[in-house]
Amino acid sequence: MTDTIGRGTRRGGGNKRGRRGAGGGARTVAVKRAAPVVREPVSLPPVMSVAELADILETSGIEIIRELMKVSIMANLNQQVDYETAAKVAEELGWETNEADSAMKSTVADFESRRLENDSDPDSRTRPPVITIMGHVDHGKTRLLDSIRSTNVAEGEAGGITQHIGAYQIESQGRKLTFLDTPGHEAFTAMRARGAQVTDIAILVVAADDGVMPTTREAVAHIKSAQVPMVVAVNKVDLPAANPDRIKQQLSEMEVMPEEWGGDIPFVEVSAKEGMGIDDLLEVLLLVADVNELKANPVKAAQGVVIEAKIDGSRGPVATLLVQSGTLNMRDVVVAGTTWGRVKAMFDDRGKRIRRAGPSSPVEVMGLMEVPQAGDTFLTFEDEKAGRQLAEQRSAQKRVEHLNENRPIKLTDLYDQVQEGKTAELRVIIKSDVQGSLGAIQNALLKLNEDMEAGVTLSVQLAATGAVTESDVNLAATTGSIVLGFNVRPDVAAKRAADAVGVDVRFYTIIYELIDEVKKAMTGLLAPVYQDVTDGYAEVRETFKLPNNDVVAGLYVLDGKVPRNSRARVLRSGTVLFEGGIKSLKRFKDDVREVAAGYECGLGLEGFNDLKVGDQIEFLHREEVARPS
Ligand code: GDP
Repeated sequence: MTDTIGRGTRRGGGNKRGRRGAGGGARTVAVKRAAPVVREPVSLPPVMSVAELADILETSGIEIIRELMKVSIMANLNQQVDYETAAKVAEELGWETNEADSAMKSTVADFESRRLENDSDPDSRTRPPVITIMGHVDHGKTRLLDSIRSTNVAEGEAGGITQHIGAYQIESQGRKLTFLDTPGHEAFTAMRARGAQVTDIAILVVAADDGVMPTTREAVAHIKSAQVPMVVAVNKVDLPAANPDRIKQQLSEMEVMPEEWGGDIPFVEVSAKEGMGIDDLLEVLLLVADVNELKANPVKAAQGVVIEAKIDGSRGPVATLLVQSGTLNMRDVVVAGTTWGRVKAMFDDRGKRIRRAGPSSPVEVMGLMEVPQAGDTFLTFEDEKAGRQLAEQRSAQKRVEHLNENRPIKLTDLYDQVQEGKTAELRVIIKSDVQGSLGAIQNALLKLNEDMEAGVTLSVQLAATGAVTESDVNLAATTGSIVLGFNVRPDVAAKRAADAVGVDVRFYTIIYELIDEVKKAMTGLLAPVYQDVTDGYAEVRETFKLPNNDVVAGLYVLDGKVPRNSRARVLRSGTVLFEGGIKSLKRFKDDVREVAAGYECGLGLEGFNDLKVGDQIEFLHREEVARPS
């Protein structure tokens, strides 16, 4: 409560002055500091390391770390802090701050909003549809893509060598169509998860001899939720066992109603193998495109989405970009995701060098500094400086997001991810007593991975023999893995580290149980079961109001203990008034992690300022309990 005493004076007239003596049990003596120095406000980037912050504030890293500890942040020199945190520290050290690039930020907002203006633009012209193919494995997605491509290459380009750049463009009836050639809904959902709406029309492929399968259902769900127009390609009609009516029946039961049955979904019978029905399919696609009036303005700066990207040994970062509007030109400055660069060379899907690419064209681009991610949006600039700044800004934002996201995963988190329809990856670290069991576990997990439906994958970050150590836990924390121990136990340091960072470490003595639990998590069966566990009880003995109107209470711990990270349940006359997190827990002026029974402490609650003398507070945490099986 009293950590800032004496500091406010340094800023000269700051509102923190009044804090002196505000907290209960304050023993701090106000430190007399030098008279306030009038300085220019410093500008701080959105994210910086502790060392960088120390540099900017012309002080030592230790000083910064000390300040951070006061707000309960344990940091090292390399730790990243966000602007808000850094600003607080700076303020404590007597600096006025502002956020660097705030002027630039509005530029970023301007540019990002360019993305939304499309339809109302009077210069818009009809553009080719961008089409994705989805469906169950072996129903002929790849074959259909190949068949469409080989029979309909644009005039004069036949015979060129097909390059797989993630998308291609063909011509039919003198009009262009763009196909994304990573079939399956992983790519589709991954893009959507990144906020990129790439697809204009989805083709759902169903093999006429096989019918609707689990992945077909999933694909329908994804297409519907993305509200993308759908065309059903009933494939393999050349086979004697083909039964197109059965497909229509099955799909209509899922509210994918064929047009000829009064619905609004076109069904086209095709044979990707024989090249039958392909022209019909293309015609239908063009009709759907017309109905949806797909347009874009070709005469402005290009923007779009990264379809795929890789590092190429001799060419450096190479990205396939789908231009969604505008025209991409050689030498344009491109910002893709968090990277940027000037377009040094462009190629179309036949490997031909091109100088410009208009709306709906896929184009392979060289010249980016780094490899962007599939699904990243891109924008173009004439000016190198603006491009670089935007890339830096995006990269800083991403670091902030990463800071927030980079929390350890639990086996049961996977359940939520699967439920939300996100592609989930379960990363594991396996520690086992002997090589024999390790091999058996690895094989079984590998098998499990192969048997798994799309959507969940398992990746082994480390498999080794020996006890679970602190370094295993650290690896798990940084890679977002869980640790599976077989016939081993953690050493003390590992146990402590796992508790501290919240890594899920599980132990087994029966291989089958290990595999079974992983399998359940992967199939989304392992819903977590929680129960509240009481840590301790305390009573409010006095209350204080801080200058910012927060109320903190002086507590006496009656029973158990009060851990800093537990939840507080405020009870007054036996009824629950409030339940929520702890904002501050102090002994005298120091932040503490825990206070035991028989001691006094100071407590502030997150979002509750109505503590009264005599209130009882129960401290508790949620604990995952074994599921009844
Ligand atoms: P994907 O897993 O959906 O990409 O399916 P593929 O395109 O790899 O096709 C799976 C299998 O079905 C391959 O052996 C194809 O040759 C075959 N296939 C695809 N389309 C047809 C078709 O129209 N008729 C027949 N008879 N076989 C097909």
